[in-house]
Amino acid sequence: MLALVTGSSRGIGKAIALELAKNNFDVAINFNRNSESAEKLCDEIKNFGVKSDFFQADVSDPEQVKNLFKAIKEKFGEPVKILVNNAGVTRDNLLLRMKNEEWNAVINTNLNSTFYCTHEAIRDMARAKFGRIINIASIVGLIGNPGQANYAASKAGIIGFTKSIAREYAAHGITVNAIAPGFIDTDMTEILKPEVKDSILKSIPIGKMGTPEDVAKAVLFFASEENSYITGQVLAVDGGMTMC
Ligand code: NAP
Repeated sequence: MLALVTGSSRGIGKAIALELAKNNFDVAINFNRNSESAEKLCDEIKNFGVKSDFFQADVSDPEQVKNLFKAIKEKFGEPVKILVNNAGVTRDNLLLRMKNEEWNAVINTNLNSTFYCTHEAIRDMARAKFGRIINIASIVGLIGNPGQANYAASKAGIIGFTKSIAREYAAHGITVNAIAPGFIDTDMTEILKPEVKDSILKSIPIGKMGTPEDVAKAVLFFASEENSYITGQVLAVDGGMTMC
């Protein structure tokens, strides 16, 4: 069964691609700028005995997304059955300093890409009466974060989108769920100042950052064929940060 993981050249996307491959899914890797790491990942994935290839596309551009899905179908000879909308960026700034470009870059890459990719994937999934869509949101989309109004809005948007599409396609064998990671050790969090990291760590009941693999395990759960009765859910993978 073919899975597409957007933004899988590194970080959480890479761990998701590997976890799916280890569990017998063929994997289409998508990257924007890091072709070298995408190629390396593709070789690694093939060692698990599944099919894989890597595709350059800026998923914030609807034309590139159209071409991406066409290229994947041509290459694998079948449509995507598992879509993981993972590609994401941050452009943090306090509201009064936030430029339109920073707002738009984050909304385009995180939220609009999720719409473009889902829109391209859904017709074939509905035809097959089977599909799994897993959207990578964030706990910031649930509780907000100063300096991340653009990012929080994009992730809260993804959660609303997830629930709406889950309702629209529930009767078509397609489940749509979101994962809300907390504080995960990747390039995205590497750039935070040590004092910011320390204060976040204090707010995590489990007492440590999560790993990309922690998120990947949750993706595998939603991707499995057996999990057909869970849809429209948001699963926090956050060491207990947002429990209530
Ligand atoms: P990361 O290490 O910065 O990696 C981001 C990935 O997204 C890269 O593979 C990058 O590809 C890709 N990407 C960025 N813009 C793209 C575009 N326009 N088109 C295609 N691919 C694009 O980030 P991460 O921490 O793994 O985050 C992955 C997802 O988890 C994001 O949606 C993020 O918001 C979410 N998340 C992360 C955390 C965390 O603590 N790390 C917490 C909550 C949610 P290139 O390198 O090729 O450009």
